Amino acid sequence: MTYDSDNIFAKILRGEIPAERIYENDVALAFPDINPQANVHVLIIPKGGYLSHDDFSQNATAVEKTGFTEAIGEVARITGVAQSVGGTGYRLITNSGEAADQEVPHYHVHLLGGNRIGRMITPPKS
Ligand code: 5GP
Repeated sequence: MTYDSDNIFAKILRGEIPAERIYENDVALAFPDINPQANVHVLIIPKGGYLSHDDFSQNATAVEKTGFTEAIGEVARITGVAQSVGGTGYRLITNSGEAADQEVPHYHVHLLGGNRIGRMITPPKS
């Protein structure tokens, strides 16, 4: 699968679809998920065109990887969920590919917090 720049998050990056820009640095952008699953539910995406964590982890530069990781930490502090700013913590999720039901084919990390969000996953119905 090759990266398709027609995906929704690429359009958000280009400003073609509106999103509240919670945080941005040279390599990453963060905005609220349109269908929040917790009191705080933010998506952090790289500005480069990467399909998934599988793609990003192999093909992004060291600068992109560092900046992306830093962006996640900044978002956790800005939204008040990080323990270092008095928050109660958060969970990071990234869905990569079919088995994980990845919906948008532009790498993104979900940051969830602001309330108890339960154990790791709900087992799928058989
Ligand atoms: P995935 O299943 O790919 O990990 O998650 C994609 C996420 O993108 C979903 O949680 C969904 O609610 C969110 N999403 C889909 N379309 C939009 C959109 O147009 N704007 C925003 N802010 N989030 C979106």
